[in-house]
Amino acid sequence: MSDKLHTLTASLQDGMHPASLWKALPNGRVECHLSPRKCRIPEGGLGFCGVRYNRNGELLTLNYGKSVPMTEERIESEAVYHYAPGAPILSLGNIGCMLKCDFCQNWQTSQARLVREQDIARYTPEQVVDYAVRHGIGILSWTYNDPVVWQEFVMDTARLARQAGLRNLYKSAFSIGPEAIDELLEVMDIFSISLKSLDADFYRKFTRSELQPVLEGIKQVYRARQGGRGPHLEVSNLCITGRNDNLEQARRVCDWMLDNLDDEIPLHYVRFHPDYLYTQVARTDVNFLEQARRQALDAGVKFVYLGNTANTVSVDTCCPQCREVVIRRSGEGIALHLDGNRCGHCGHVLPIVNLPQTSKPVAFAGKPGRSLTHVFRGAIGAAHIEQATENPIRYVFLDADGKEIMGGQSSCLRFLVSKPSARVVAMRIDLDADKDVRVLEVFDRAHFPTVLTEQSQSGSCDVPPAPLQPR
Ligand code: SF4
Repeated sequence: MSDKLHTLTASLQDGMHPASLWKALPNGRVECHLSPRKCRIPEGGLGFCGVRYNRNGELLTLNYGKSVPMTEERIESEAVYHYAPGAPILSLGNIGCMLKCDFCQNWQTSQARLVREQDIARYTPEQVVDYAVRHGIGILSWTYNDPVVWQEFVMDTARLARQAGLRNLYKSAFSIGPEAIDELLEVMDIFSISLKSLDADFYRKFTRSELQPVLEGIKQVYRARQGGRGPHLEVSNLCITGRNDNLEQARRVCDWMLDNLDDEIPLHYVRFHPDYLYTQVARTDVNFLEQARRQALDAGVKFVYLGNTANTVSVDTCCPQCREVVIRRSGEGIALHLDGNRCGHCGHVLPIVNLPQTSKPVAFAGKPGRSLTHVFRGAIGAAHIEQATENPIRYVFLDADGKEIMGGQSSCLRFLVSKPSARVVAMRIDLDADKDVRVLEVFDRAHFPTVLTEQSQSGSCDVPPAPLQPR
């Protein structure tokens, strides 16, 4: 066993799985071509991602079936606004990454050597599919750190999911090789791709990867759509304070989309929060994001949204013909004014896949016997609720006077909730008397939390912790 392997936590060293997409080289070396990095790995060595290992001239993957806990979220969390609005998704994130961004918002899992044992859960493809079906969740989302370095588990599970009537969503920075994309195109229904910049130097300097393969990858997915039968595609651009939060960079992204895709592919300008090694700056200025959105609309992109930004109409979808709102979004809540994929006001056909909701209603066996109150701190407007067994949980949002605003329910082991409006200050969680939950704060909706509310030092949040309080 090599010294390299010993740099990783025990779960990663245990239970290796044959890797795909590699070739043998002389002297026991292997070349991995899952991502464009094409690592040449000596015996006993690890790839750049930290989760592909050369054992005696064979490439093995260390993260097969090893994941952060599966989480029920809404499809909007993944910067997907034009496919099954409001649909529940089952989000799965793994360990490792083919990039090394100093601003990473998922660094606790993307950096394999930093992963903690307690954040690793193990699943089989069958368990994932069975869980989604049992909870009435129709879409698996391959997300968080980056699904590229999980190709073998993604493919095995996504194929099984398709057989069970589920759909698959791929949320990625998409630094991935063409053969791997061809495999994904067999099973993915939705791609949400994070294009970080149109500046090759930005990619080299801040992500330690190359821009061009990402652009080629997006075009490969787009080509597969031709004829109208391919996967759904949306593009997001994380606007990072002091790095690419200027109108010239934002303009290059929308111009590239207009030149290489079409004007109906949704574009999301996403707000950054300071994280990992890039913490000495503020969050992205919302005024800049609004200007970038206006610029892209003026340039001709029909659907431009802001991400990780609350209290703005720039998250709503308007009909390009009559300009009326057809999807209003607040937190996880949506209000649809659609008739199938037609505008509910003027009948204009919209490029939106509108599916019926599939979540199963959750029933309490008796009356919930216990309530806890979670206070939303400062700018932190979302949380994961986690429980040990699949019990019904109801949550209700409260304003400053304690008035109930709206709420929801779930019996998943872990699920995301987010504030539906600025009036909400707290959330009441109702559960059976003998049960308990943990609440983990989420600074932005797509950010995977790994610490309890009481321990959170999240981003630029500057308010004191507020642990769960008995009501
Ligand atoms: S997935 Fe990419 S980073 Fe990881 S070993 Fe393969 S080529 Fe290297």
